Amino acid sequence: MNTDTPRPPGPSAPALLLLYAALGLAPLPLAALQGGAGRGFWRELSSGLAMIAFAMLLAQFLLSGRFRRVSGRVGIDVTMRFHQLAAWGVFAFLLVHPLLYAVPALGDGPGAALSRLSGMFAAPGLRTGLVAWLVLIALMAMGAWRDRLPFRYEAWRLGHGTGAALIAILGAHHALAAGPYGADPVLAGFWKVLAGIALASLAHVYLVKPMLQRRSPWRVTVNEPVAERTWRVVVEPVRGPAFDFQAGQFAWLNLGHSSFSLVEHPFSMSSAPADRPRVEFTIKQNGDFTDRIGEVPVGTTAWLDGPHGAFTLAGRDATRLVLIGGGVGFAPVVGILRALRAERWPHPVDVLYGNRAATQILYRDELEAIARELDLRLHLVLSEPPAGWSGVTGVLDREVVETCLRARDGHVHPDALYFVCGPAPMMDAVEAALSGLGVRDRNIVSEHFSYR
Ligand SMILES: Cc1cc2nc3c(=O)[nH]c(=O)nc-3n(C[C@H](O)[C@H](O)[C@H](O)COP(=O)(O)OP(=O)(O)OC[C@H]3O[C@@H](n4cnc5c(N)ncnc54)[C@H](O)[C@@H]3O)c2cc1C
Repeated sequence: MNTDTPRPPGPSAPALLLLYAALGLAPLPLAALQGGAGRGFWRELSSGLAMIAFAMLLAQFLLSGRFRRVSGRVGIDVTMRFHQLAAWGVFAFLLVHPLLYAVPALGDGPGAALSRLSGMFAAPGLRTGLVAWLVLIALMAMGAWRDRLPFRYEAWRLGHGTGAALIAILGAHHALAAGPYGADPVLAGFWKVLAGIALASLAHVYLVKPMLQRRSPWRVTVNEPVAERTWRVVVEPVRGPAFDFQAGQFAWLNLGHSSFSLVEHPFSMSSAPADRPRVEFTIKQNGDFTDRIGEVPVGTTAWLDGPHGAFTLAGRDATRLVLIGGGVGFAPVVGILRALRAERWPHPVDVLYGNRAATQILYRDELEAIARELDLRLHLVLSEPPAGWSGVTGVLDREVVETCLRARDGHVHPDALYFVCGPAPMMDAVEAALSGLGVRDRNIVSEHFSYR
């Protein structure tokens, strides 16, 4: 995990944003080149917004977090937040798209506008557009209330993928058959290519990748408890190439199902690349799948999709590190620490590790051994410490973070590189504390374990 190692591949955040904006806006000049606008302000506005939104929606398929070439460099957090935010933009534009057609009729009263709307919704030629519009509303509702819906995550994911594919197909049909500019061969070609790429990306994730994975099966070689409700799961390749990754990255892990199964979950590698071909995960019981992780027998077949994520030191400029983890969010930090140890990292490292109870601390003996070998200060923080606790008492808030950071030489070093991973409230508190202490966003690398 040398800083000379290149960053995970992919465009930078500004480049990604620019590409996305360019793709979203591309239909406008293509439509304008056709001339013949002038169907009235509201109709043109409605078509313009719908075209932008549909292009954005099709580009969303590549922002699913499963394409390293797209999200490798910016990381999964930025990719998923962007995916979610952009989805709201798409939704707003497409929601008003049919409504705007009815605005001119408002001059004749709300009844006239309503009757124009109901006429449109009943028109056979607009049926595919209407169904796509309704599916989009359902998809957004499913996204917004995901954690409150009574489905398993896998059912949600299947619904999300199927709904998105339906919208792509029906929306493309609507744009080509009913869109005022859809007859133009260049714009029609644009929609066909973009919709084709979107659907191919789904086929890649759900069919091609699982097919390729079958060439490289893995096997569980260790599954043992390492802390309260937390398990250490080690997998090794049965055949095929050793898994190449950078410390701190994660993989989608499928244990004991077909490689085509939707039952796969993201977990950070808590081993170092130097430990390959062995790859280790530290998994906390936290729901349907993870609650039964301890029951997975040694010998179970595993499939790995990865590595993903940019929670890694590779390619970053750092001569001073601060690693801050809470709960099982410490798993990727352990991977980074093991890599630092393997490389005999010569620079100062401060580690702040928060938990509720001492029984939750992961790999404590090993952490203390690493602290002795490197220029590393380990701050174990507990909110409910046992009697005689010699570490820090409290939670990772501004006061605790500042005290730990100043413990080395009395200073906070805003130019250090800060890695933060843990439960969302902890991450918010730590990021606010760091920002209050003068650390700039670009010096903070963070990863959430939930896309909420
Ligand atoms: C980048 C990343 C790295 C992670 N690393 C670790 C780790 O090293 N150790 C660890 O214990 N946990 C890690 N997690 C969290 C872990 O993925 C979830 O705890 C696990 O998927 C929950 O599944 P479940 O069926 O047990 O729980 P459920 O009750 O089904 O789900 C709980 C929540 O977990 C999320 N989730 C569930 N399934 C998936 C899925 N297939 N894909 C994405 N999110 C899902 C959803 O937000 C869901 O609401 C990581 C998560 C992410 C995003």
